[in-house]
Amino acid sequence: MSYLQGVYPILARKALARNIFDYTVHCPEIASQSRAGQFVHIRVAGHTLRRPISICEINREKGTLRLVFEVKGSGTEELSKLAPGDLMDVMGPLGNGFTLLEPTAKVVTVGGGIGTPPMLETAKHYGANATAIVGFRTAGLAILEEDFQKAGCDLRLATDDGTKGERGFVTDLLRRRLAEGPVDIVYACGPSPMLEAVVGACKEAGVRCQVSLEERMGCGVGACLV
Ligand SMILES: Cc1cc2nc3c(=O)[nH]c(=O)nc-3n(C[C@H](O)[C@H](O)[C@H](O)COP(=O)(O)OP(=O)(O)OC[C@H]3O[C@@H](n4cnc5c(N)ncnc54)[C@H](O)[C@@H]3O)c2cc1C
Repeated sequence: MSYLQGVYPILARKALARNIFDYTVHCPEIASQSRAGQFVHIRVAGHTLRRPISICEINREKGTLRLVFEVKGSGTEELSKLAPGDLMDVMGPLGNGFTLLEPTAKVVTVGGGIGTPPMLETAKHYGANATAIVGFRTAGLAILEEDFQKAGCDLRLATDDGTKGERGFVTDLLRRRLAEGPVDIVYACGPSPMLEAVVGACKEAGVRCQVSLEERMGCGVGACLV
């Protein structure tokens, strides 16, 4: 695995929802090597272990990566205090990423909650050939809708409490999409029970599926055997 590490300037920061932040980092060397579904490992002041954050968007022309994360504990809280002009210590790209087919393939991306950001770069590769299914607990936590729409994807949204989009789970929408017509591959990222249900639905339909796991990890490169 080849990866880089450096200290890079933050170009932009915005809050997308309560405790969810969107950063653009200028790291041309890492951006040029990054692929959809990979992640970067970020050093946080006062913490020994880096924090893994998935790549939400890659802009190779501008040399930037977009990172969207939710504040979960002290590491991500510290990260969320960084402002444009500050430096971020980034190592990456890490992980295998998704296998991307020809852009003409019919695909479904499924993102649950904070598992939604890594699906954007993947869905953008397919544009109008991607059905982007996203699910959130409630309307106030819904993020990136406009981004999927701007990419030309067929966006389908569900919330657990029905305050936005359809009431229900992303897997309900996935099963319906799989019944509508042929799908070459399904990509998913989100909580483990959601991923299990996605894999189950794909197995039943006989459709290839790749999932991105965001379990806790140490070094990010396999040296710690996690
Ligand atoms: C490959 C990978 C990609 C990831 N991509 C993203 C992303 O794009 N956006 C994002 O918001 N988060 C992402 N995560 C999760 C993120 O790394 C953790 O939320 C973060 O490391 C927590 O650090 P902390 O210091 O804030 O919290 P800690 O103090 O370490 O933990 C606080 C709480 O967060 C929970 N937590 C810790 N690690 C994780 C984890 N990996 N998954 C879920 N809950 C966790 C713990 O249960 C604990 O209760 C990713 C994780 C992995 C492994």
